[in-house]
Amino acid sequence: MTRRQANVFGVSAAAAIAVCSLSIGQDAQVGFKDTPMLPGGKWHVHDGDRPRPRVITPGTCSTQQEPGQPPSDATVLFDGKDLSHWRGRRGRPAEWNVEDGAMVIKPGAGEISSAEEFGDCQLHLEFAAPVPARGRDQGRGNSGVMFFGRYEIQVLDSFENVTYADGQAAAIYGQYPPLVNASRPAGQWQSYDIIFTAPRFKPDQSLESPAYVTMLHNGVLVHNHAAVIGAMAYRAVGKYTAHGPKGPIVLQDHGNPVRFRNIWVREISNEH
Ligand code: MG
Repeated sequence: MTRRQANVFGVSAAAAIAVCSLSIGQDAQVGFKDTPMLPGGKWHVHDGDRPRPRVITPGTCSTQQEPGQPPSDATVLFDGKDLSHWRGRRGRPAEWNVEDGAMVIKPGAGEISSAEEFGDCQLHLEFAAPVPARGRDQGRGNSGVMFFGRYEIQVLDSFENVTYADGQAAAIYGQYPPLVNASRPAGQWQSYDIIFTAPRFKPDQSLESPAYVTMLHNGVLVHNHAAVIGAMAYRAVGKYTAHGPKGPIVLQDHGNPVRFRNIWVREISNEH
């Protein structure tokens, strides 16, 4: 940086600080009205009348020993205690086991569905594949998380376990492999953070816009705004069938006692 640039930055920084200190005074006007209009014609740049975001308390990160805290505005679907937010087959109580702060697939009990329904949302869940790792390919630590009960993110023990790419852990099942395999060994807790945009349908039931998935597996990006092809299908290309704006989150039972903990959802509002 030259001395001249440094001076320019110095002046700019000083000016910015002056504006800030004026803006945070209790009676001072915060923001501007003499700035250009943003696209959409609703707000000026730095518009002081623009509603400020709700204040929430962010959560904390999990460790292998302890689950983290959800953000204060999350809907908690499992906090280690009970299955009250889940339903089993035909709306009956969910029959999975709760052990040591985890809910565990009871093979044969069938999938479970969230009692509440969600549209666009942010989902956090953690899972651990059974130990010792048994079976291979799709037979090892298999489950899945399905938005609207039909758009599946695969849960599988994909640590040193080869299967077809679009069926491994964190795949959009049958459609997109994850960008990388960020799996941890069986028995270790792993996290999925999924931003799910629901599909939209026209009045004639045809597809207006597909579902989109952005996702982190163990904190690593594995899908970046991937356009979902259709509902989960096995050995077939998934198709869309029109549905409403919200649906349940479903966890699959594939006969393997996968453990889950710390499951929460935040509904996404796209109002800015
Ligand atoms: Mg599955």
